[in-house]
Amino acid sequence: MTLTVLMNAGPWLSVPPPGYGGIENVIATLVPELRRLGVRVVLASVESSTLPVDEKITVFPDGQFHALQRPYNQVCGVSQAHLSGVVRALHARDDIDLVHDHVEAVGLATLAAMGPDAPPVLHTLHWDLAKHPELYGNLDGGDRVRVNGVSASQLARAPQALRAHSVGHVHLSTPLAVDADRHAPVAKGDHVVILGRINPGKGQDLGARLAQEAGFRLVLAGPVGPYHRPEDLAAAGDEARQNPDVRFFYEQVAPYVDGDRVRWVGTVAGRERDDLVASARASLFPLRWEEPGGTAVVESLSLGTPVVATARGCLPELIEHGRTGLLTGDEQELGDLVLAAGGLEPAECRREAARRFTPARMAQRYVELYDRVRTGAAKP
Ligand code: UDP
Repeated sequence: MTLTVLMNAGPWLSVPPPGYGGIENVIATLVPELRRLGVRVVLASVESSTLPVDEKITVFPDGQFHALQRPYNQVCGVSQAHLSGVVRALHARDDIDLVHDHVEAVGLATLAAMGPDAPPVLHTLHWDLAKHPELYGNLDGGDRVRVNGVSASQLARAPQALRAHSVGHVHLSTPLAVDADRHAPVAKGDHVVILGRINPGKGQDLGARLAQEAGFRLVLAGPVGPYHRPEDLAAAGDEARQNPDVRFFYEQVAPYVDGDRVRWVGTVAGRERDDLVASARASLFPLRWEEPGGTAVVESLSLGTPVVATARGCLPELIEHGRTGLLTGDEQELGDLVLAAGGLEPAECRREAARRFTPARMAQRYVELYDRVRTGAAKP
């Protein structure tokens, strides 16, 4: 019997995302592999999503990422409108065997509220759970709702109530991991890259300061709040500073950005992103939060670039110190490790990514978890 899964990607970005988009990248990687395994996928996303699926459910024409800078009630309004659309669609049909939900707890609560007629739900946790216990305080829906994490460390930090509903964890994967032709080794330049949202947890301020102190070239790539290009941020004026990530950038990072040793290039996408990472001497993750999944970490390995990072969150699960990267508990030591990372083997990083983080493995693991959720299995 064919399994039909409603994959809820949410209303924020199209799938695949135009540039930045951790969750959407994961879904864009997972869905083709699931379909290869015979799973029918109904994608709940925005109309502009181009990922080939069996069917789409949409409320918004395109990604509502810009709404994330608005007051919280408007953000909730977007979430609620999207989820009402999903629930309406679910009420109108009975062919959905399982909902695979990637949108925070609002999605869980709404689906669980459908009562006994709701299909079982697997909710993938993408965040640092210890930071947001309130989101998952009330897991209505009992055995019909299960969760999975994206790393063991993320689940270990989850509140007990949530862990009781867990069916295990699945390390993230990216399409970069196996596409050896598209990502043939490139010559290494002399720069180091930090790829990610500009945010205190990702630690770009620390990276930029260390680059100035230790004397390495650093490229910061990623959005600042909702702004993808430096010229858009510059044009936004003072009002933009209401966004905490914009304030963080201006106050903590910009003082080190001199356009020469330290540059911020905005969001990079596609080939430009891959080349920037593949030609870097190292990918730096000066993390100040417990990184839950680290898509960009796995991408770096698959592009043959060793990872230098604070040993937080899932980093020790993804990186083997001395082989695929260098980890430390001491922030100040990161600068020295960046200089030492040139001694690591790019081919070793690529091999590790191809061995552990393929899209096919991720999809197989999810099919196992779907089975556990549907048969009401408790713990792994
Ligand atoms: N990303 C991108 N362009 C950028 C910055 C990030 O394409 O300029 C992508 C990156 O390759 C990764 C995702 O956005 O796939 C970020 O996911 P990650 O799990 O690393 O971070 P988070 O979800 O916490 O933002």
